[in-house]
Amino acid sequence: MTSFTDRPGGQGRVFAVANQKGGVGKTTTAINLGTALAAADHRTLVIDLDPQGNASTGLNSPAEDRDLTTYDALAGDASLPEIVVPTDIRNLFLAPGSVDLSGVDVEFVDDPDRAHRLKTLLNTPFEDHDLRSYFDYVLVDCPPSLNLLTVNAMTAADAVIVPLQCEFFALEGLSQLLGTVKRVQQGLNPDLRIEGIVLTMHDQRNRLSSQVAEDVRTNLGEIVYSTVIPRNVRLSEAPSHALPALIYDPKCAGSQAYIELAAEVRQRSQTDQAA
Ligand code: ATP
Ligand code: MG
Repeated sequence: MTSFTDRPGGQGRVFAVANQKGGVGKTTTAINLGTALAAADHRTLVIDLDPQGNASTGLNSPAEDRDLTTYDALAGDASLPEIVVPTDIRNLFLAPGSVDLSGVDVEFVDDPDRAHRLKTLLNTPFEDHDLRSYFDYVLVDCPPSLNLLTVNAMTAADAVIVPLQCEFFALEGLSQLLGTVKRVQQGLNPDLRIEGIVLTMHDQRNRLSSQVAEDVRTNLGEIVYSTVIPRNVRLSEAPSHALPALIYDPKCAGSQAYIELAAEVRQRSQTDQAA
């Protein structure tokens, strides 16, 4: 058992960090937004739902050291308290991923409730409280696909955070993602919202990058966070040290941007709760 079950009463907000496009900054956002929220004294859980397991590796849980994973939990062989591990960062917990996740689309095909498995895990009562309520924030790092894993994340989530890379085709892939969100809203999770779109890998010296950022804001308006994550080499170096950039180099522009993003996420989610 991990120590997270000692303190219920969290806000229990669940965000799917999703975009079917590969390499847009989903994992970097899950790790560093999670770290920034934890540093602001919010108990936070990162759920690695990607067979690549990058969020786990980046949080110092290499594949060879992982015991039970999100695969075991989704398969019904382990509970959330059994798979969640503390990280090196205070208030930050991890549900590690596994390459076995790549088989779930086929393995679960006969289960009519297969899209609800993550939601069921998070809503399981533990000493009179849903497990999600032992956390303020739960960030689900999704794979680059709109498969059953991403649908599980969206079914369990209150809302979706979409990292969007500042590049020419950014908006094209977005319509496909928004289509999936709509289908999940129509059936599996009517309350699902888009929490926010975060522009990533913005290159100040590149006019195209700024043009894309401007176009995205014109098209999508306030849903786009004011914070823009810059292209920053420290963000890409940090995972090879198994550290969030916020710990590896807290002063770098990338870390500072994620601290700013966390403040926006907190503010926006508090406004949602008041509404
Ligand atoms: P996948 O779809 O494969 O899961 P992803 O969307 O999770 O990818 P990341 O793994 O976060 O994307 O980022 C892709 C690569 O770009 C990684 O090597 C990461 O370190 C790097 N990277 C992410 N964000 C930035 C940034 N703002 N500046 C520089 N490099 C970045
Ligand atoms: Mg990733």
